[in-house]
Amino acid sequence: MKVNFVDLRAQYLSIKPEMDAAIAGILESCAFVNSKSFEKDFAEYLGVKNVVGVGNGTDAICMAVHCLGIGPGDEVICPANTFIATAEGIGWAGATPVFVDCDPLYYNLDPAKIEAAITPRTRAITAVHLYGQPADMEPIMKIAKEHKLIVIEDCAQSHGATYNGKKCGTFGDVACFSFYPGKNLGAYGDGGAVATNNDELATQIRKLGDHGSNVKYRHDFEGINSRLDGIQGAVLSVKLKHLDTWSDRRIAVAARYGAGLKDVCKVPTTAPGRRHVWHLYVIQVNNRDEVMKHLNDQGIGCGIHYPVPLPVTPAYAHLGYGAEQFPVACGTADKLVSLPMHADLTDEQVDFVIAEVKKVAK
Ligand SMILES: *Cc1c(COP(=O)(O)O)cnc(C)c1O
Repeated sequence: MKVNFVDLRAQYLSIKPEMDAAIAGILESCAFVNSKSFEKDFAEYLGVKNVVGVGNGTDAICMAVHCLGIGPGDEVICPANTFIATAEGIGWAGATPVFVDCDPLYYNLDPAKIEAAITPRTRAITAVHLYGQPADMEPIMKIAKEHKLIVIEDCAQSHGATYNGKKCGTFGDVACFSFYPGKNLGAYGDGGAVATNNDELATQIRKLGDHGSNVKYRHDFEGINSRLDGIQGAVLSVKLKHLDTWSDRRIAVAARYGAGLKDVCKVPTTAPGRRHVWHLYVIQVNNRDEVMKHLNDQGIGCGIHYPVPLPVTPAYAHLGYGAEQFPVACGTADKLVSLPMHADLTDEQVDFVIAEVKKVAK
């Protein structure tokens, strides 16, 4: 039985008529260069005042950090275990990422380890809701308030997740979303957005992404070109209507994996008060290479998120970190395996994956 890690084709086929009509509508209207209608839909969905579409999730982080006035000489707290884009956004804005280890249960930024990393140069904390599980926002917001720090949420993996009933992306000063095709809410190409209740910040980010301009050919500063195009906006508006149903299915798949695998390997769990939207289902095994080879041989897609923690990635060698400073992120990196996770998985496919993992996992 073939089980794809993600299955964008199955998802497309499940919504083909409405998707084809939405894309055709953009082709007819030729409204290619912005996505105002999706911005409005997504702002309503999140319950925030402003959503600004940008070119991709990495741009969203770079642009947010820059427009918050964070740059050279500033430090920004960043989890050790995340995709490099979180740290890239900080670095490209001219600031320095300061890595903090994750907690061993949920793999998110460990609030107990944040304060030791704060210096007089610290300006912000990036809270990543990794794998679709909300970071522990209550202590993070408390620390930020005490130390007068900005909070930037990286919501690239957590569309629709909630923490104590409140949507991820509505806690911090600004939230950054990716709509990379494989994300829980994915475009048919690159896309991203910034969400914020701060009108001035939203205007600045919109201008930055449109050549420093919000009036044609009046350029108030040197910007860049980073916008969410019309076709992607139309695609995302169609998918947004299905997002909560898809998340429910991901949650059911995770529960089925958990029940089937909890006695076999370390399975991921959801912290109290969270709606975890399971962008990734990451188990820990002691014989990862063997497990991955076996799964691949059976036609089961799997991945590693992430094989090399950021502090020990070549791109950050100049910061001089050692693996021993990040016992959780660096101690688990060679045990993590991500199993197939998407809303179109059937129970039969999930059971097949469970059975095959059981045969090899140690
Ligand atoms: C995917 C991702 C990003 C970057 O998004 P792109 O749209 O690919 O640039 C940022 N942060 C995290 C945690 C991600 O998973």
